[in-house]
Amino acid sequence: MTVKINQDINTVVKSLKANHFDIVEFVKDADSVVKAVLDIIPFEAKVDIGGSMTLRQIGLRDMLTGRGIKVIGVPGYETNNSGEQGDILLSSSNAVTLDGKLVNVDGVGNRVAKMVFGPKKVILIIGQNKIVSNVDEATDRIKNVIAPYHGMNLGRTVGLKIPCAADGRCHDCKSPQRICNITTIIHRKPVMTEYVIFIVGQDLGLGWDPHWPEVRKKRISSAYLAAWQKEMASLPPPPSK
Ligand code: SF4
Repeated sequence: MTVKINQDINTVVKSLKANHFDIVEFVKDADSVVKAVLDIIPFEAKVDIGGSMTLRQIGLRDMLTGRGIKVIGVPGYETNNSGEQGDILLSSSNAVTLDGKLVNVDGVGNRVAKMVFGPKKVILIIGQNKIVSNVDEATDRIKNVIAPYHGMNLGRTVGLKIPCAADGRCHDCKSPQRICNITTIIHRKPVMTEYVIFIVGQDLGLGWDPHWPEVRKKRISSAYLAAWQKEMASLPPPPSK
């Protein structure tokens, strides 16, 4: 079967390559990206997982541990600062721009810090729904789609209270529970880190353009909620400090 790569995906792949990210590949779907990632992670690797709904959705953590590969951090508590450092970071990106910039927002900063410096290799899995025109659109989408939806879900499940969860709009709040404290824009490949980026021809993780058809947005949000509920149901008690 011939896979059609739409124009935006083609543009993003070319731009990321032009921005010196080492390996940038299009893969058609979740199954293909799982296979591609498993093929490049050695059995002896120590893998760090940045909190990512994309990874939860495609079940990579379980597959890695099933192979006996060491995964750092406890499911659901990836933000814990165990002090242990992986040699590979596996994550996604909140957004990728057409000119090949990676835009991310974190509350804690563990994920974005490791994307910039720390693990020798970073592997990112980015669904087609994360492609945006530019940094302004990325920021707008993160603040007015991703954070409110995620905040609403965290409100329901763990009692988090942030104003955007109530009305779906960012208020640049001063809440101590604010989930967007650090923004990173990776313009070009960080000098000392090897990067492998898979752009997937399937919607994965949280994020959509508000103008997309309701059916597509519903599919993305339902997949996100299903992955979240599955993870919440399987959580061990919080690790002791
Ligand atoms: S700054 Fe506050 S209101 Fe705005 S997106 Fe972040 S948590 Fe929500």
